[in-house]
Amino acid sequence: MRPPLTRRAVLGPASGAVLLPFRTVAASREALAATLRQYCLRAFNTTQGGLALARVGGNELLFQSHPRALRETLRKPGSTVKPFLLRRLLEWELLRPEETFPCSGGPLPFAGRRFDCSHAQQGAPLDPTTALALSCNRCFLHWAERLPRAPEGRSGFAETLRRAGFSARQAFGLRCAAAVVGNPSSRDEMLLQALGEAQVLTTPLALLSAYGRLLTSANGVEERAAMRVALQGMHDCVRAGTGVEARVEGLDLGGKTGTSTSADRRSLNGWMLSFWPAAQPRLVMVVFVENGRGGAEAAPIAGGAWRALRPHLQAFMA
Ligand SMILES: [Zn+2]
Repeated sequence: MRPPLTRRAVLGPASGAVLLPFRTVAASREALAATLRQYCLRAFNTTQGGLALARVGGNELLFQSHPRALRETLRKPGSTVKPFLLRRLLEWELLRPEETFPCSGGPLPFAGRRFDCSHAQQGAPLDPTTALALSCNRCFLHWAERLPRAPEGRSGFAETLRRAGFSARQAFGLRCAAAVVGNPSSRDEMLLQALGEAQVLTTPLALLSAYGRLLTSANGVEERAAMRVALQGMHDCVRAGTGVEARVEGLDLGGKTGTSTSADRRSLNGWMLSFWPAAQPRLVMVVFVENGRGGAEAAPIAGGAWRALRPHLQAFMA
């Protein structure tokens, strides 16, 4: 059942904007859902996966294309965990916003697997914002080595993921599959968890809800420096980073890609988390794709969805 549209739900907790008439918002919600239903019929015609959209700050699910898949499919989140890791490392003062690390690109074998960076070679070392925008595995593995110095030690990031909602078995009031975040038992497992590749399994809806909460904190009046860095990195991700395929002319989007291995590690799954507007997010979307990559397959689906939604967005600026 949908929660009632209270003034708070319409406006969001931090908004001082003009209250739109109830009927305008309700009609916009219907139009938005109808547009996405049509769009998803085409987008997921031959591609397996799903798309869901929620309001930031209201814990309100506005649309879900494939309810079973979105609630019952457990997947590794891959690099979609990086904004959470970056924010935490900065908050714990294990990383400074102006710090840099050189990534030469090329092969990156780790723990018997390959984590090669997909970004082009950069002319200079990467700061945290750019590393997030380019989803640089070499930078994040280097910085994640510091996690044992976190207040909760090697399990500090596991606790962060649990608190963020990655292990939630309910999202937007709906029951979801048994997501789980475990404590890493070794250094390698700790680093794999930092890349969303070990000790974390979640559902698309739980991941959407976690991003909704993360972005809600970005809208707070006391938005912290750590969150600003993460937000800028996600803005750059869509503008010129791994999420560039989601870019829509005239829409200020932010987001984060993710590509993770399946349970048997024989195939890949793609994620694209995206939100609008980038500076003060109101809506957040998850796209996940079976047998695909975040940047190459999930991001263009997200971009197409935002393009289709563009005529309906103004009502959600309130
Ligand atoms: Zn890199």
